[in-house]
Amino acid sequence: MSKKIVLASNNQGKLKEMREILRPLDVSLHTQSEFDVPDAPEPYFTFLENALNKARHAAKLTGLPAIADDSGICVNALGGAPGVFSARFAGEPKSDARNNEHLIATLKEHQDRSAYYYCVLVYVRSESDPQPVIADGRWDGEIIAEPRGDAGFGYDPHFYLPSLQCTVAELDATQKNQLSHRAQALQELMKKLR
Ligand code: IMP
Repeated sequence: MSKKIVLASNNQGKLKEMREILRPLDVSLHTQSEFDVPDAPEPYFTFLENALNKARHAAKLTGLPAIADDSGICVNALGGAPGVFSARFAGEPKSDARNNEHLIATLKEHQDRSAYYYCVLVYVRSESDPQPVIADGRWDGEIIAEPRGDAGFGYDPHFYLPSLQCTVAELDATQKNQLSHRAQALQELMKKLR
């Protein structure tokens, strides 16, 4: 029987992407909502602490090994902001459109437009696992003022990839899933889990 792992997220997109990448391993991945696990708080300033907290919370409430992720965009001219606050950069209620407007307005006076998407994944065997497995991924680009493309979500229409001469919102899902910060972190996690 395959090993059950709980994913500390209820995002079906992430579940699908992770199932695809973890397919070679003999594991079955389940969202935490299948076990009635409520979302964990994300009170920390680092992606790693938030992901570790989410993974521990899911492992504690299910008694199963757990995987959690945390991701966001870091803008160099802003000292890495919005970072862990990416989803709510323009305040509540969270809105991609307002976040993007806020980002472009905040960057107006800055010459340096470089930024990166970052994702960390944490796997714990149990709530008290002394040695969590940690993998991360980083995707570098530049913030452009005029949005381009309709695919993806979040900051993608403003996240320009100089090497491909397009924004992430101009890539199709297959291309994004091969290149993204999340894909890189997942590949690394899979290598380590093997
Ligand atoms: P979460 O880790 O999925 O909650 O993502 C946190 C936030 O970071 C999202 O709400 C987006 O604002 C931003 N973000 C993370 N990954 C991406 C991405 O691939 N494209 C665009 N925005 C992203």
